[in-house]
Order: sequence, then structure tokens, then C-alpha cells
Amino acid sequence: MRNTANKDMTKKVKTVEELFLCECGDTSDQVIMRWFDDQDDKCPNVYVSFFLRKNPLWKRIKLGIQYIFGKRSKYGEFGEVILKPEDYEKMQKVTDFLKKSYDAIEKKET
Ligand SMILES: [Zn+2]
Repeated sequence: MRNTANKDMTKKVKTVEELFLCECGDTSDQVIMRWFDDQDDKCPNVYVSFFLRKNPLWKRIKLGIQYIFGKRSKYGEFGEVILKPEDYEKMQKVTDFLKKSYDAIEKKET
């Protein structure tokens, strides 16, 4: 029984990644969606990573002081990545994985 558990711990799980670059062409505007292609559905989630721009020192200090005193943009603090129509296949892969995970969870609960 214990050997089986150890075998599961060392099992290689394929990581799947899709990279989305912004329509604007700025390579710092990118999103990476990553998930584990695990047949056992132990991790049904998709991890979404954004690149965070690094501002010059004085701008970071200015923003830090503004943050301490609670100043915020009236629009909130958002970045954006504009997806291109040709990204639909990558997005479909993400959606297919989430649907598969959702169906597996639903199946276990019923
Ligand atoms: Zn952009």
C-alpha cells in the first residue's frame, strides 16, 4: 500500500502552458495560462500569470507614498492584455481543460 502512494508522488504530470501576447506588441503585456494535465484530476485549476512592469525607483517611491496614504485611481489599478482573434485556439484549450475538470468534479459529487 505504501509503495503505491510513493509511486503516485513520483508520477510525472505534464504541465501545459499557453502564452498570450498583447495585440499592442509590447512584450511586457503578456499572460501565461498554465495547468497540469493530470489524468487523476487532482489539480483542476488553471493558473493565470501576468507580467508586472517594474517602474523606475523614484516612480515606485512616489507610488508607494501614494499607496500608504490611500490614493487610488478612480478606475482602479488594472493592467490589460488585448487578445487577438487568432488566440481563440489557445483559449479553447484552456476552456476545454476547465470543462473537463468541472465535469469530473460534478461526476464525483453525484
Ligand atoms: Zn498591450
